[in-house]
Amino acid sequence: MDLPVITGILLDTKRFAVHDGPGIRTAFYLKGCPLRCLWCHNPESISPARQIGLFEHNCCHCGDCVPVCPVQAHRMVNEKHQFSRENCTFCGACEEICSGRALKVYGKRTTVQEALNIALEDESFYRESGGGVTLSGGEPLFQKEFSLALLQELKKNGIHTALDTCAFVSQKTLKESLEFTDMYLVDFKHFDSTEHKRLTGQPNELIKENLKFLSDNHARIEIRIPLIPGCNDSPENLHATGNFLKDLHIESVKLLPYHSYARAKYSALQMPDTLPESESPNLQNHVEILQNYNLIFL
Ligand code: SF4
Ligand code: SF4
Repeated sequence: MDLPVITGILLDTKRFAVHDGPGIRTAFYLKGCPLRCLWCHNPESISPARQIGLFEHNCCHCGDCVPVCPVQAHRMVNEKHQFSRENCTFCGACEEICSGRALKVYGKRTTVQEALNIALEDESFYRESGGGVTLSGGEPLFQKEFSLALLQELKKNGIHTALDTCAFVSQKTLKESLEFTDMYLVDFKHFDSTEHKRLTGQPNELIKENLKFLSDNHARIEIRIPLIPGCNDSPENLHATGNFLKDLHIESVKLLPYHSYARAKYSALQMPDTLPESESPNLQNHVEILQNYNLIFL
């Protein structure tokens, strides 16, 4: 029987993912996030709406996109390509015809049934590897109705589920997710709330409360710390973070190195580039600090 039609905006679907929870997984990346991390490497995931990016350095000004656009968003002026994205309907015609890969539509409206069908294709791999399905983003609970409905259907089909979350969500929503979520991959960005607000746009009291809530409810939790040079990699912050995490039921911790590969996407989307300049150094020193707090690293 087909499911009631609930749709979400998916940014991407990755099959055979091995970095988004245990085993072999299908990872669904959803659009929309309540945070604005300065180092975000997926700026296309921040807005919940569909978007189109223009990678100008890939454009050879051939003009092939001009006749295919139903809203005349592309024009050639003095043999130069000009683009006004305001009326774009995200039909994808220009992306398809552009041989230089200068155009990219971000976000596809997808039903729960369609996502479930994709997930079910790899069921045997999940079973053999101890894997399953991960909802990520952006923040998957930003599209609460879609994510909860998909998690519920996955559980009905006996599939292991993981939520990759920033935990800046209402506790009511998190509570609703508990029944259908086998594991939480929770980002923890800075211990100090004032610094957290400066770096991500939001304070972190809610995130800490939600982590305690998940821990008190015996959820399986993996903590993920994106280590950003000059932002959250000081020994003081790592000690404070370790001291906070040590009292929770945390299964494992993963440090995520920072890189600035996403820079081109900021300009393609006409977003201010907030990415820090330097890349992550060797993470071993940071691991050693956190190991003082009996945390297990992946
Ligand atoms: S089709 Fe692509 S390469 Fe050609 S003008 Fe349009 S954006 Fe530029
Ligand atoms: S996605 Fe469609 S509507 Fe938008 S600019 Fe390209 S061709 Fe035009």
